[in-house]
Amino acid sequence: MDAKTIHVPVLIVGAGPTGVICANLLGVYGIETLIIERSSTIFDFPRAAGLDDEAMRTLQAAGLAEEMLRDMVQNVPMRLYSAKKECMAEILPGTREFGWYRRNLFSQPLGEVTLRKGLERFPHVTLSLNMTLRDLTQDETGVTAKIYDEAGNEMTVCADYVIAADGASSKIRDAILKISNEGKTHSRKWVVIECDDDPLNAHIPHFTANHSALTSA
Ligand SMILES: Cc1cc2nc3c(=O)[nH]c(=O)nc-3n(C[C@H](O)[C@H](O)[C@H](O)COP(=O)(O)OP(=O)(O)OC[C@H]3O[C@@H](n4cnc5c(N)ncnc54)[C@H](O)[C@@H]3O)c2cc1C
Repeated sequence: MDAKTIHVPVLIVGAGPTGVICANLLGVYGIETLIIERSSTIFDFPRAAGLDDEAMRTLQAAGLAEEMLRDMVQNVPMRLYSAKKECMAEILPGTREFGWYRRNLFSQPLGEVTLRKGLERFPHVTLSLNMTLRDLTQDETGVTAKIYDEAGNEMTVCADYVIAADGASSKIRDAILKISNEGKTHSRKWVVIECDDDPLNAHIPHFTANHSALTSA
């Protein structure tokens, strides 16, 4: 093995919420893990806004539920409005099978900061930024990944397992493992609008129907 080849039990590709929560869970179980991310920073746009009770249970298992709750609003209803602005339905599940409320709001960038901070608890988990996976092979003994830094320097990572947390356009799933995406998506387009000066209750997500599409705010 040359100096640019390392071995780790688990390699995680992608430090979005999926990859980082996996790294935290592996950290809790004492498993040495390398997580790589091609970007230098967290993507600073609001994306996911809701966490359900199952997600809260996962965060609890990672020891991060209390930290995440500091930036969250718990037990938030969702309201459905007609095009005439009449409230047609309010959804607020009352059951708490897992102990947590079922509809909770969060901000993805803030949540990702907390999840990444959680990794600092584990000396056996390493987050490596500006590293891009370009190739991956596997055999019965494990996987071999070709990873490049910003300057184009190559590193080989041999791992027992790889977790493909490289997002919706996953190169590992599509181009390398050639696993097809199955299922259907909604036939209508959705638009997410975040308002600073919302005349409705700003902390409550609203879904408003119009003639040609559904929009959510
Ligand atoms: C506009 C918008 C609105 C959304 N709204 C909601 C919502 O309201 N509710 C909701 O639940 N979800 C929402 N989502 C979806 C939510 O943001 C995603 O489900 C979530 O980000 C998925 O997390 P992930 O970790 O799987 O993937 P990502 O967040 O995409 O993270 C994947 C990471 O992998 C890295 N990566 C990719 N390829 C490589 C590579 N080859 N080498 C190294 N690193 C790599 C990427 O840089 C990225 O950081 C929204 C998304 C968008 C775009």
